Parts: sequence; structure tokens; C-alpha cells
Amino acid sequence: MTDKVFHLGLTGFPLGHSLSPALHTAALQVMRLKGEYGLYPAAPETADLQCLLGRVRQGELDGLNVTIPHKQTVLPLLDALEPAARAAGAVNVIFRRDHLLIGDNTDLPGFLSDLHQQFPHLAVPGQRKVLVLGAGGAARAVCAALHSAGWQLCLAARRPEQAAGLMADLRLSSAESLPLDAAGLSACGSVALIVNATPLGMAPNPQNNPWPASLPLPAGACIYDLIYNPSVTRLLQQAQQAGLSAASGAGMLVEQAALALERWTGRPAPRQVMKQVLNNWR
Ligand code: NAP
Repeated sequence: MTDKVFHLGLTGFPLGHSLSPALHTAALQVMRLKGEYGLYPAAPETADLQCLLGRVRQGELDGLNVTIPHKQTVLPLLDALEPAARAAGAVNVIFRRDHLLIGDNTDLPGFLSDLHQQFPHLAVPGQRKVLVLGAGGAARAVCAALHSAGWQLCLAARRPEQAAGLMADLRLSSAESLPLDAAGLSACGSVALIVNATPLGMAPNPQNNPWPASLPLPAGACIYDLIYNPSVTRLLQQAQQAGLSAASGAGMLVEQAALALERWTGRPAPRQVMKQVLNNWR
């Protein structure tokens, strides 16, 4: 054990019940590091977020995770961005380096790493098309990751202006945008991968499904659902029934958290322990 005590936490609004404190506290214990991980709600359009960042700048806090609604609004309050945060135009991790506040995005490498682990054939470079459902914060990280890996992107969102904003911010000039309905989704044609980046199917509404009941899933596509609670969503059930390969967002959740902890502590994070915490929580 070192004498250093790590003061970490999560900001967003509202925060409600979060798995992050349990995940990071268990990991710190196994890493034999002293520390705590708190929840710091910061209401939008108040000085809350700026005050909290001041505490990181002064060294009172060592690092923060950032969630809805601050992943993009925090950008102008930071001194510098790591390449992943710049690519996604969104930040989910903040840390201090040489008295500067740095924003990073571990959702991006967390998603890509788990995608390749779940579907190893998709790690082999090739010209492939992906259909991303949703155009919010997580979709930004997913699109930036897949674009950097050479994928051709098709975005399906209920608000075309949100998809257009994402495509403009990420400079995805060759991406297609479609409505998130049966007609739009069938217009995308053959794809190697579908990623659900909407909350449809997430607890407490597991009966929801972003994919219309009337439309068969494309033959041969791999299905990755960013949702991790429940562990098998309606979309994943539908994929399994159609004989398609499918994965939940559990691996991405653990990987993005592990990468954040490594930024803050400079030590390898215990991914197996973090997976166990997630499995016990669900
Ligand atoms: P977000 O920023 O709120 O974006 C959600 C997207 O889904 C938006 O495009 C939103 O459109 C759309 N959407 C919401 N409700 C919809 C509905 N009823 N019909 C159609 N579209 C709908 O949220 P996020 O941060 O991107 O998170 C999305 C999901 O990913 C959540 O389930 C979250 O838990 C999960 N996630 C998982 C991980 C992981 O590590 N596994 C990491 C990040 C996020 P509007 O803006 O029009 O509402």
C-alpha cells in the first residue's frame, strides 16, 4: 500500500443509483490502493460543474467520470483533450496532468476492445458496414471508434438533426443517416454489425426493443447492445433466436471503467474483479 489516498467520483445529473462506486471501490481494494469514489451530482445551467472541476484542479479530487448531461458540455471547461475525446467530441473521464485539466474518452477504446474480443473476425481489417441505432453520447464514441477502424457507417436516429450534428462534429461525410423505423432500417441493406446505442430495452423497461418486431434482423450480422442491465435484452434474445452472434455492453462497461482507473492511478486495473462486481449487481 502507498500512502496516497485517491479521491475519485462520478458527475452527471441526475445520478440516481450508480454501479460505479462499487466497481471502483472493489478495484481499488484489490489494487491495494487507498481511496474512495463518490457521487457528485451537478445540475445543468448552474455553477456546480465548474466548482467541481475547480476541486480537481486544486488537487482535492484526483479524477472524475462524467455522464449525461455533461459529456459534451464539459468540453469548454477543460484545458486539453486526449485524442479519443477529441475524436468523439465527448468526455467521460477527467484527470489532472501538470496542473492542467485533461478530458479523455475511455468509452471509445472500451467499446472497440470489447467488440473485437466478442467478435474476433471483426478485428481483421476489411471494408464493412455497421448500423448504429441512436445518436446520443454513447453513439458518438461508437461511431468515432468504428470510423477510426475503417467501418462504413449508417446511423438510425429518431431525430435526424441529432444524427446530422453527430456526423458534422465527427466529420463523417460518407456516413448515411436513416430514420429509426422499419422503413429506415430496411433501407440500410446488408450490414456486418448492428450496435444499439439507445436505452431501449434497458431496466426498468426491458420489454422495449429498438428493432421493429415486423422486421427480420439482417442475415449474418453481429449484434452488440450497449445495454448491460438486463444482461440479455429483447434485442439480444431476438438475435439469438435468429441464430446471430450477440453481445451485451457488460464488457465495454468494465473496460471503460478499468481504463479510467488506470488513467487516475497509473496501475493496471483488475478487470476480473470488476466483472464479478457487475455480475453480482445484476
Ligand atoms: P443519450 O446520450 O441519452 O442517447 C440516447 C440515444 O437514444 C439518443 O439518440 C436518443 O434520442 C435515443 N433514444 C432515447 N429514447 C429513444 C426512444 N424511445 N426511441 C428512439 N430513440 C431513443 O444516452 P447514451 O449515454 O448515449 O446511452 C445510450 C445507452 O448506452 C444507454 O442504455 C446506456 O446505458 C448505454 N451505455 C452503455 C455503456 C457501456 O459501457 N456499456 C456506455 C455508455 C452508454 P433522443 O435524444 O431523441 O432522446
